[in-house]
Amino acid sequence: MTIQWFPGHMAKARRQIEEKLKLIDVVIELLDARIPLSSRNPMIDQILQQKPRVVILNKSDMADEQVTENWVAWFAEQELEAIPVDATSGKGVPRIVQASKEKMATKFAAMRKKGINPRPVRALIVGIPNVGKSTLINRMAGRNVAATGDRPGVTKAQQWIRVGQDMELLDTPGILWPKFEDQQVGYRLAATGAIKDEILHPEDVAFHTIKYIITYYGDMLLERYDLNELPADTENPSEVVDFMEMIGRRRGCLQSGGTINLEKTSQVILRDLRTLKLGRLSFETPTEHGSDVTIG
Ligand code: GDP
Repeated sequence: MTIQWFPGHMAKARRQIEEKLKLIDVVIELLDARIPLSSRNPMIDQILQQKPRVVILNKSDMADEQVTENWVAWFAEQELEAIPVDATSGKGVPRIVQASKEKMATKFAAMRKKGINPRPVRALIVGIPNVGKSTLINRMAGRNVAATGDRPGVTKAQQWIRVGQDMELLDTPGILWPKFEDQQVGYRLAATGAIKDEILHPEDVAFHTIKYIITYYGDMLLERYDLNELPADTENPSEVVDFMEMIGRRRGCLQSGGTINLEKTSQVILRDLRTLKLGRLSFETPTEHGSDVTIG
């Protein structure tokens, strides 16, 4: 389900998260490892205030490993621990539990000193749609708890899910809206499947995505589509479109008259991207996108 966000929805989402914050110790902020900045909600720092948090770079199995490492270092500079995770396989999940407990270690040690036995650390998962919240909740729970988020008209009591010995997780995540101000951000969100294809034209999404891939991962394209040469100038749109047409020809995306169907070609490219047929790719780097950004 992709939610269409209007100001009223955003205000409601914010209120719901603020309510949940009262119940928990630690926020687990889910980002997409391929686009850690574009998949961040712009108001998250304001919403979370000083709440301890761990940052998860989810879908790290789909991201460029080196770039993910660079992001981990970038977050560390901002005094946030970012943990690469693959929620589908569970890779990185033990570290989430460990890091969440560490956030409360000092407070709980003080409680123990006073003879009070601390309760389990309570955590809430937050993130934009499709970033993997339900998958991670199910993974941490070790079973399907079907956290489908806050559907309108469906109210259900919130439940705590036990995670190991000393941690509890709210079974419904906090859903945040992605940021829309910048069109490039929109294309990255669409390319990674965070927003529905109908919202932006597949040709536009594929065009901007291909342009980026040509620049950073050109060899992967040549290999996948059995082509010899990349466009020399990606700033020239017709060169990029010509290249897309070569891909379309290779993949048989033809229409009547033998011309290339660019919409079909775009869909093929986006499907290949999302099913890892092109390989592991990241669409944002700290050097290119992170220099003016501070978070936390
Ligand atoms: P939510 O809307 O944030 O709850 O997202 P979901 O948990 O429903 O996940 C959205 C899609 O991403 C599903 O198809 C998941 O299988 C997939 N997904 C979630 N986490 C990962 C991950 O770490 N790696 C990969 N490859 N896919 C993931």
